[in-house]
Amino acid sequence: MTPQAALERLRDGHATFLAGAVQTRPQSAAQREALAAGQHPFAAILACADSRTGPEIVFHQALGDLFVVRVAGNVAGTMELGSLEYAAAELAVPLIVVLGHSRCGAVKAAVDVAKNGTALPGHIADLAAAIVPAAQATRDQSGDWVDNATRENVRRSVGVLKESRVLSPLVDAGRLQIVGAVYALETGAVSYLD
Ligand SMILES: [Zn+2]
Repeated sequence: MTPQAALERLRDGHATFLAGAVQTRPQSAAQREALAAGQHPFAAILACADSRTGPEIVFHQALGDLFVVRVAGNVAGTMELGSLEYAAAELAVPLIVVLGHSRCGAVKAAVDVAKNGTALPGHIADLAAAIVPAAQATRDQSGDWVDNATRENVRRSVGVLKESRVLSPLVDAGRLQIVGAVYALETGAVSYLD
């Protein structure tokens, strides 16, 4: 599948979700057995861990369709990078979508740190620290700071992925596309970033 065809398939599934036309997709025993023999997902998604943003639901896809990496704030750290490099290099997914979302608690925490120097407990501080540069970079932009930081954070994760030594040759060869998008909790719509 080409990157463009993969993106179209995501768009089609998302349109079904947005239209409220989602029907339960039964997984037959035969389908499960086929999947047990090997996976051939057509896209990988780096999404937030937020309970309201499940990619299989938002894009209306079934078991085996999406290779999903989820971490609060959809940051691209070494473990997330390794997972996505595996998806592209070993499973040959032609598309990676970094999917941020509105009202993200992780981004809001990072903005609070940038704005007020808020001290966060435990490893939550480490997570927020990974997003603070996106918050600082959008400090003086007009509009809502959290919204702006959310888009910036997605762009930065896309940038990290594009710099990967495993992923960048695939992108250059036209075998992989890496795009950013934001899911709006309020409307259910996914908007792709430029
Ligand atoms: Zn979130």
